[in-house]
Amino acid sequence: MGKLLNSVGGKVGKLIIGLMDKECEKDGLMLENFLRKRYIDPELELCDKCDLTFKFLGNPTFAAAEKLLKVDRDWLSGRLRSEYGESWLRGIVSIAKGVKEFGVREPFVPASPILIVWNLTYQCNLRCKHCYENAGLARKAELNEEEARYALEQMKEANVAAIAFSGGEPLVRKDFFELAKLAHDSGMYVSIASNGTLISRKVAKKLKEVGVDYVEISLDGIGKAHDEFRGIPGAFERTLKGIKNCLAEGIDTCIATTGWKGNLEEILKVAELADKLGARFIHFNYIPVGRGTKELDITPREREELLEELALKNLRNYVENGRGDRVLSTAPQFGRKTKEIAEKLGIEYFVATHYGGLSSSSEEKMKSIKSTANFIGGCGAGRLYLALEPNGDILPCTFFPRNMKVGNILEDDLIEVWEENELLWDLRDREKLKYVEIGGEKIGCGVCENKYICGGCRARAVAYFDDPLAPDPGCIKNEKIFASLEEGVRASLLPTPSIRSR
Ligand code: SF4
Ligand code: SF4
Repeated sequence: MGKLLNSVGGKVGKLIIGLMDKECEKDGLMLENFLRKRYIDPELELCDKCDLTFKFLGNPTFAAAEKLLKVDRDWLSGRLRSEYGESWLRGIVSIAKGVKEFGVREPFVPASPILIVWNLTYQCNLRCKHCYENAGLARKAELNEEEARYALEQMKEANVAAIAFSGGEPLVRKDFFELAKLAHDSGMYVSIASNGTLISRKVAKKLKEVGVDYVEISLDGIGKAHDEFRGIPGAFERTLKGIKNCLAEGIDTCIATTGWKGNLEEILKVAELADKLGARFIHFNYIPVGRGTKELDITPREREELLEELALKNLRNYVENGRGDRVLSTAPQFGRKTKEIAEKLGIEYFVATHYGGLSSSSEEKMKSIKSTANFIGGCGAGRLYLALEPNGDILPCTFFPRNMKVGNILEDDLIEVWEENELLWDLRDREKLKYVEIGGEKIGCGVCENKYICGGCRARAVAYFDDPLAPDPGCIKNEKIFASLEEGVRASLLPTPSIRSR
């Protein structure tokens, strides 16, 4: 599908969206208005020119796109009319503009990052063993309040749809609530990743008031297992309280557990606890960066077994309750694993990314869902999202080493970085992924059939190979690569012969 779309659909799509991506003096951005009229408010009054353009160009184009991508119109209308409608709208505008700017790509590239993970501070009240930010008490230069507001303004102008505040512990920053409210009032979906220990009932209420849509609280085990890892006695109880406080306020709450050598036994127990409490669960893929060392990493087999258990749990939830978003993983291989299991069990369900699942009731639709999954495409580093450091440095992903920054929000224009940075373009092009040869066998993401739905974790590739296009050695398909690295042998990386690239 991708190649065909790229050649024919790509050119036509670019042209048509180009015609709709215009500012009308009276009504504002045509593309956005057309989306509103088709999905939110058919009665929306537009000027004669916009009305005609919508009738003859906008409406048929969206109808064709729905058919091509097998997107359900009612489903989309529901999303756009929901309380998160504004951020959905921003995301869809960005995807459509991405087609105009960069053509139809597999996986797709929006015109601006859909999500920015903003590590708001280096400060943290806990001492987790694997912290990617190496956070703690040490004072390092961070954006001040005015600079942070400027950063947010840039994100708003760039049409960023979602913002995830992280850290360090974002709640230790005094201006957190003000920034969260500004982001919410700008129409962004706002989430926060927290250790939960500072979330009293009052704080949970305030999170809700300022418009935080989703809270992700990290827990690494039950009781002492968590305390030991976090380096603070009593942390588990305080975190648990934070989770319960968020749930009591009716906030969409998710428990996040990073799977490393020391807590594999704990992960399903935490997932069970999440179930019991009525929270969602997400497994965070361990990546050796910051304070996290390679010694703490798990083997590809351990990861595969873990993903299998989580995929089964998620599928069970989907079959029993129709909810395919209760148990997820940030490991890009989760899509592949779920696909394998669902096919084996004859369940029509597919996880396109770690953000949610797709399902269908017909074989033909299922095929199209898989194509859509290729379009959405697994690892989103530098393609769907960017990370922002407390000092304003921009990274392709929060798990990338800090010396691989692609810009700084105070010194660079966010959209220019997005459109022009070479590293970001490398990360968006799955044809550039590399492989190795071990015993005459070609192994690696570059030669993997699942590279469009997965692409491997690029941050792990950097951690083990210093090369963002190297194979992800954490995947079961690359088990031999991991074994050779364990033996201290780093096979030469080979480029995959390019089919198409930017
Ligand atoms: S080899 Fe790479 S692209 Fe293929 S499934 Fe594994 S991590 Fe994903
Ligand atoms: S590099 Fe990709 S897969 Fe890895 S953590 Fe970042 S976004 Fe996720």
